[in-house]
Amino acid sequence: MTNRDCRMVGCAACGATNRVPAAKAEADAKCGRCGIALLSGEPGVLTSANFTALAERSDIPVLVDFWAPWCGPCRQMAPAFSAAAGQLKPALRLAKLNTEAEQGLAARFGIRSIPTLMILHKGREIARQSGAMPTTAIVAWAQQALSHRGFTSL
Ligand code: ZN
Repeated sequence: MTNRDCRMVGCAACGATNRVPAAKAEADAKCGRCGIALLSGEPGVLTSANFTALAERSDIPVLVDFWAPWCGPCRQMAPAFSAAAGQLKPALRLAKLNTEAEQGLAARFGIRSIPTLMILHKGREIARQSGAMPTTAIVAWAQQALSHRGFTSL
């Protein structure tokens, strides 16, 4: 099997990087170390501990929700973000980043207001949008950003 037939997929739970055959059904893609479903369509939690696996080594871009527990608009957007995760999989994985708990990552990406949505691929920012959005707007924005960057799998 060549590399083209595999995708590297980071695990949000344990930080392992998995080699997943592209033909494998997403429901069957499980982490080789901890066994959780890698492409469940549920937003993961992005931390400094799993950032390398999820946002730098993974072939699948990750849409990050920079939020904080004290932020009302962030909490209001949470259900919309979860719903978008189900619609955008498996081309895009969604993850939440608590800017209170992960101030280093928030500073690294220059987050000045929350909520801010950002698409990362191989550690690089490819799109960002500040302000709360409904599910339809999140999905449309993400699809447009990915197609601009040549990700055609959506
Ligand atoms: Zn794992």
